[in-house]
Amino acid sequence: ASPLGLRTLVVDPVADSCAGQVTDLVTAEWGDAAALAEFAGRVDAVTFDFENVPAATAERLAAQVAVHPNPRALAVAQDRLSEKTLFRESGLNTPEFAAVDSRDDLAAAVERIGLPAILKTRRLGYDGKGQFRLKTPADIDAAWAALGEAGAKHGLILEAFVPFDRELSVLAVRGRDGEFRTWPLTRNWHVDGVLSLSLAPAPGTSDELEQAAVAQARAIAERLDYVGVFALELFVRNGELLGNEMAPRVHNSGHWTIEGAHTSQFENHVRAVLGLPLGDTGVRGASAMLNWIGELPDPAPVLATADGHWHDYGKEARPGRKVGHATICASDAGSLRAKLVEVGAGLGREEQVAPAIDVLG
Ligand code: ATP
Ligand code: MG
Ligand code: MG
Repeated sequence: ASPLGLRTLVVDPVADSCAGQVTDLVTAEWGDAAALAEFAGRVDAVTFDFENVPAATAERLAAQVAVHPNPRALAVAQDRLSEKTLFRESGLNTPEFAAVDSRDDLAAAVERIGLPAILKTRRLGYDGKGQFRLKTPADIDAAWAALGEAGAKHGLILEAFVPFDRELSVLAVRGRDGEFRTWPLTRNWHVDGVLSLSLAPAPGTSDELEQAAVAQARAIAERLDYVGVFALELFVRNGELLGNEMAPRVHNSGHWTIEGAHTSQFENHVRAVLGLPLGDTGVRGASAMLNWIGELPDPAPVLATADGHWHDYGKEARPGRKVGHATICASDAGSLRAKLVEVGAGLGREEQVAPAIDVLG
């Protein structure tokens, strides 16, 4: 927002929110009506970059000031059950799924959907948290022990485990006037349910598949009257697209757009939310993004690479936590591959870059 000459005010329940390093901050609980009303009175538009802001809070703000994306879109995307139901209504197939509210439901769902399957909390999960993978019926007890308590609060969903060929995401932006744009498809690799590596444009994607994925994203956005940036996460299985989830916000698989696209996801989100013209979503070449999970490696090999970019989030190192990322850009797939070979070796992270090297080769 800042390069566009905009001033921002961030509301966060966390008193030492890292946003305070760069902008003015209001500390308030999501249910604090008085503080939220005062906040709404100080701003012209509201958005969020965190999908677990309670939809009721967004609705309360929307009574006073423009909130984009709208609270209904946020509410749908917060619940894996309503999200997958919406996907199917919009014509996007999904893995088989069933709502699970009790241990009996779980046993019945396993019976109907089969194994392997994944039990997930309907709400609040991220980076693979709140998930349990079931391989045999003997896992039902362990799955219930792990997630039954969370399920009693917000409900659970059982999904068929999809032996997908690859994972893609559509990063899209829709303006207040309905203008819709996408960046080229991104291919993603997860390790233990956490995004590890992204590559854009996704190599080896047919025009037909790309157009189908974009059409699905557009249909979903129009159904939700969505304004802003979102990501649609897809599995590809035997040439078919299956909807995994959508993120109603700027997304980790779109971080490469900061350096790799003419307009980043962050800038276009702000433009959309404020009703400004959307920026060019074209790319400057090929990009790879490497996530730093748990701890940061030595930045030197990335910084020594031409068009290599380092992002340190200033977060305390903790197992499983995303603490930064790097983006490597190049003019074409061949030179990106060569850079990744070098950076991977320099970092001692050959394994992390290997899938990209494979498909760029
Ligand atoms: P995010 O951090 O993207 O919000 P999340 O915690 O909401 O993640 P999901 O996207 O549902 O979780 O799952 C994380 C990853 O686990 C997926 O990207 C995929 O690699 C794997 N996964 C999830 N569901 C399935 C499934 N039904 N079949 C196969 N793999 C799956
Ligand atoms: Mg998610
Ligand atoms: Mg996901």
